[in-house]
Amino acid sequence: MKNCIFCQIIAGIIPAEKIYEDEKILAFLDIRPVNYGHTLIIPKTHHALMTDVPDELLKHCFVKAKELMIKIKQALEADYVSVSVIGLDVPHFHIHLIPRYANDGLPVFWPTKAYPEGEMKKTAEKIKKLT
Ligand SMILES: [Zn+2]
Repeated sequence: MKNCIFCQIIAGIIPAEKIYEDEKILAFLDIRPVNYGHTLIIPKTHHALMTDVPDELLKHCFVKAKELMIKIKQALEADYVSVSVIGLDVPHFHIHLIPRYANDGLPVFWPTKAYPEGEMKKTAEKIKKLT
């Protein structure tokens, strides 16, 4: 994908601080980290969403994410490493690995809302109908 910043990183057109690479995936440091060591893992083929990524490739991404989480935690003496898939912030599937510290001032989770009466059951039913 010509206009995709991550495809340009894979092609070597845009430089990146790589921390892991194999024939299928690349892991590099986010240039605007939430915390130092914030890493992005991307497949080397362009897929906009997680649901577009072939299963075997997706499995490889997540197994490597687990390995890198352990290494990042150890290397940066983090308390833990959070993992997230946001969506279309960059439309090339990627996994965020963010080293976290007890006092890093970041929210542990997103702001939450309450279900109005009956809405939780209705929501679950909509999803369960398709599973
Ligand atoms: Zn891409």
